[in-house]
Amino acid sequence: MPISNAKRILLKLSGEVLMGEQEFGIDPAFVSELAGEVKQARDAGWEICLVIGGGNIFRGMAGAAQGMDRAQADYMGMLATVMNALAMQSALEQLGVPTRVQSAVQMDQVCEPVIRRRAERHLEKGRIVIFAAGVGAPYFTTDSGAALRAAEMRCDALFKGTSVDGVYDSDPKKNADAKRYDSVTYDKVLADNLKVMDASAVALCRDNNIPIVVFSIREKGNLARVLAGQGAQTIVRN
Ligand code: UDP
Repeated sequence: MPISNAKRILLKLSGEVLMGEQEFGIDPAFVSELAGEVKQARDAGWEICLVIGGGNIFRGMAGAAQGMDRAQADYMGMLATVMNALAMQSALEQLGVPTRVQSAVQMDQVCEPVIRRRAERHLEKGRIVIFAAGVGAPYFTTDSGAALRAAEMRCDALFKGTSVDGVYDSDPKKNADAKRYDSVTYDKVLADNLKVMDASAVALCRDNNIPIVVFSIREKGNLARVLAGQGAQTIVRN
């Protein structure tokens, strides 16, 4: 089922999809493939805000688990998302797609700060805006950053491209009988603690009525299919 009349989307990509087949970091060839899919969507007329995670480089929780101060580790995680944003910007620009990176942690020499009106103008001009550093505060994730920017930029839907093709009633990697939902409500996701996005991100989408479309970005051509309402996906909505 396509998200009817959607024109502007927020596309959230987990950091781990930038690894391609690697175990860590950024695989430039795979990022270039991803950029090709994003370009195709933009050429098809979608206005695109992008948020990229940082889990391929650093997660605050992992640092904290090894004894680091959590907030400090989260700052490192936020910096990782900026590196990913710059890698994606470079890949998109190599394909001739104008982009701007806006970071929630200011780094004037590297990219713009988050300024909503400026981001609007970029979208009007056909640029892709990549929002980096999540919400700019520790104890959050880029899922919350994605939900926040989707609300702020009045996106019609939040597309979460990840390694699994939707939301399951149990972990499909552990349970062969796990069933994928075609559609599920925000409240069920929260009540059953289903693995979609963290609870604050889901609640923000619910409160602002932004549908979340969960799909696998690992399969080639899947972004175009999912934007057309085809292929495996789960829609989280009221
Ligand atoms: N992070 C943060 N605040 C934010 C967004 C991200 O502190 O608003 C940190 C946090 O440590 C997180 C890391 O950045 O673990 C990388 O982001 P995330 O885990 O969301 O990446 P993903 O799982 O999507 O790759």
